[in-house]
Amino acid sequence: LESSSLSLSYAKPLHIVRGRGVTLYDVEGRRYLDCVNNVCHVGHCHPKVVRAIQRQAAVLNTNTRYLHENIVRYAKQLTARLPSDLTVCFFVNSGSEANDLALRIARTVTGRHGLIVIDGAYHGNTQSLVEASPYKFAGPGGAGRQPHVYPIPMPDPYRGLHPGDDSAEEYAAHVTRAVHAMRVAGTAPGAFIAESLLGCGGQIEPPPQYLRHAFDGARAAGALCIADEVQVGFGRMGSHFWGFETQEATPDIVTMGKPIGNGHPLGAVVTTRAIADAFANGMEYFNTFGGNPVSCAAGLAVLEVIHEEDLQRNAHTVGGDLKKVLLDLAEKHAIIGDVRGRGLFLGVELVRDRDTRSPAPMQARYVIERLRADRILVSTDGPDDNVLKFKPPIVFDAQDADRFVTALDKVLGEDFITASVGR
Ligand code: PMP
Repeated sequence: LESSSLSLSYAKPLHIVRGRGVTLYDVEGRRYLDCVNNVCHVGHCHPKVVRAIQRQAAVLNTNTRYLHENIVRYAKQLTARLPSDLTVCFFVNSGSEANDLALRIARTVTGRHGLIVIDGAYHGNTQSLVEASPYKFAGPGGAGRQPHVYPIPMPDPYRGLHPGDDSAEEYAAHVTRAVHAMRVAGTAPGAFIAESLLGCGGQIEPPPQYLRHAFDGARAAGALCIADEVQVGFGRMGSHFWGFETQEATPDIVTMGKPIGNGHPLGAVVTTRAIADAFANGMEYFNTFGGNPVSCAAGLAVLEVIHEEDLQRNAHTVGGDLKKVLLDLAEKHAIIGDVRGRGLFLGVELVRDRDTRSPAPMQARYVIERLRADRILVSTDGPDDNVLKFKPPIVFDAQDADRFVTALDKVLGEDFITASVGR
């Protein structure tokens, strides 16, 4: 029944049967605090989103060959939240479909195949995106870098090539270096694709304005700049609605997925009128399910809930306070090498030694399993798998944060952790 190309979380897998808000319930009725599922953005099974889907499913579900109010209303609402030039929406069914289409648009519009990507990045599960994702092509089972793909170093202020928060321009200079390497190889970039903050790379917030400088470098070489907002968009950042805004960058193309439909399969690509027109070269883009009235109803309801419940502000205050408390925990527990991120997108990097920064993946795994025993769900990621990833539904409140920190504090004080630090 199962393929071993899919793995489950936890040594003893969870069997979850119900969700509400930040709570998941297993088959025995046990409750878990969900600190990791960023898809059910406004809370698991939010009643308003559920109702919107139910109502529209009971009336009509067709495709974009017919006119429908929902798609127009939704496109208007979505673009109202974006920079003024980004006015044309393509609706798809996942983050991968969104990124795949973004690459196709860039390739068609520029006439170039070359692609600049960031090390550690993950952009999706299709062949074109595995090739664009160092997380995959340079990881287990990966086939390595394809000739048209030029990875540049992760803009990681903690562990990267250029430490510190004032390294944006040094990191961005790698874009220009990649362009140069392409020129030597007789090619040129059609696109630069970047997660606005790095998820699978280990919850990394690039140094301020990195993306702005990197986009400048890519545009100077004629590439289109794609901001992959699949993980971080829709208010999770707290301070801003989109991740690229925190970097003072304006993309040519934005891709969205995960939180956009609160679990309903939905994705979007938004770009400028000029780029959309240049893409329309005669070959149609049709997507059977993309932009159907039910999906658009789900997307609309998510935007309304974020607004009505002031969830961006919640991400800002709860996430901001939580980050401060985690920084306090770092004073107490030597295993914490770095606390980073923004809003309700945080990472805690565990190291065996603060001076050498040697990663502590076994300890990270231990923490995850122990928190699970306390019925708190967190995950790990990063190239060394030693970063605790925190990205809950953004209805996560101060009490939830308290519960998470109290449990984490306790686990980090256990012998298995304390005995392994400094060795
Ligand atoms: N981009 C990013 C940054 C992602 O994290 C993911 C999924 N983890 C994707 C794209 C692909 O999205 P999906 O799984 O919906 O195809």
